[in-house]
Amino acid sequence: MILILGNKVERSVLELIGKAINLSEKSGMKVGVFLIGGRELENAERLLDYGVDQVFVVSDERLERFVSDVYLRVSERIIKDMDPEIILSPADTFGRSLMPMIAAKLETGLTADCTELDFDEKGNFLQTRPAIGGNIMATIVIPYHKPKMATVRPRTFNIAKEIGRKKGAKLEFLKIPDEYFESNVRLLSFKEKRDEVNIQEADVIVAAGKGLRRKENMEIVRELAGLVGGAVGASRAIVDAKWISHDHQVGLSGKTVKPKVYIAAGISGAVQHIAGMQTSEMIIAINKDKFAPIFKVADIGIVADAKSTLEEIIRRLRSR
Ligand SMILES: Cc1cc2nc3c(=O)[nH]c(=O)nc-3n(C[C@H](O)[C@H](O)[C@H](O)COP(=O)(O)OP(=O)(O)OC[C@H]3O[C@@H](n4cnc5c(N)ncnc54)[C@H](O)[C@@H]3O)c2cc1C
Repeated sequence: MILILGNKVERSVLELIGKAINLSEKSGMKVGVFLIGGRELENAERLLDYGVDQVFVVSDERLERFVSDVYLRVSERIIKDMDPEIILSPADTFGRSLMPMIAAKLETGLTADCTELDFDEKGNFLQTRPAIGGNIMATIVIPYHKPKMATVRPRTFNIAKEIGRKKGAKLEFLKIPDEYFESNVRLLSFKEKRDEVNIQEADVIVAAGKGLRRKENMEIVRELAGLVGGAVGASRAIVDAKWISHDHQVGLSGKTVKPKVYIAAGISGAVQHIAGMQTSEMIIAINKDKFAPIFKVADIGIVADAKSTLEEIIRRLRSR
């Protein structure tokens, strides 16, 4: 079985279901989802509509907040019972915290932040991720251990299609004995940190790089993003220069995005940046250097000054 581990019915889980179904067609493995969390998981039944074989849920008010030792104990018990071949989880705070602990307990390997998953002709599970600062893509095979575990950044894969329920597909709410909930951790208070912006939800991203030349020119980027109902993205160079906060950074050490339109203004197209935006539906790049690597992934390339090109686009949009 390919098991997806999550704590919510959310987009990142649906993306992994899409990929797992694709992998199951190649391998004949079943697809299961295991959700662990609070009471809101009672809506998990709708996951059956995406063509999975089984959905297992542990939903308990004592799991409302992530408490590492309890989550680990419960997950380990369920996973041992299910004995999956592969476990996938989103590379978000939940997956990045819990998956390494489970891997250590089960004495198996974990590949973090995968960008592609596949099988080779011998049936080896191939896990691809950027390595050495994003300069190469490494494909990792774990031939002798089970389960094989991987986390995948949200927005890497397409969302699963609602193909309807499979015959025999079932949802199970699992009961966990009380002693599993005893914890060495006491939660004193909880304060939610909200990102200033969520660029991962935007249909259009206007992203800025060092080619914008000056921090003041970010106003033009914000103006265009506002006009098209989009969000502002950024290269790491301008985040490091404190032109904008890290919430906006796209790339290997920022966010992975998949908007309908990605406008890269004055961004060179370093591998670490491209890793976070290359699956955008349409990429428009503006760079005054016609050899800039960003043009290799662009659908439309404009060799020009970034600031004046954005101003011209704004002028034309306003005069429509
Ligand atoms: C481990 C690691 C992780 C990293 N993670 C990330 C990440 O998550 N995201 C990220 O973005 N980077 C990341 N980087 C940094 C990355 O390697 C680049 O340094 C960075 O993306 C460069 O940003 P930039 O394109 O804005 O700046 P530059 O590389 O300085 O490029 C500026 C571009 O603007 C063009 N330009 C100059 N003037 C103009 C003008 N007037 N009009 C139009 N174009 C002009 C230039 O031709 C050039 O192509 C990471 C690096 C490492 C080692």
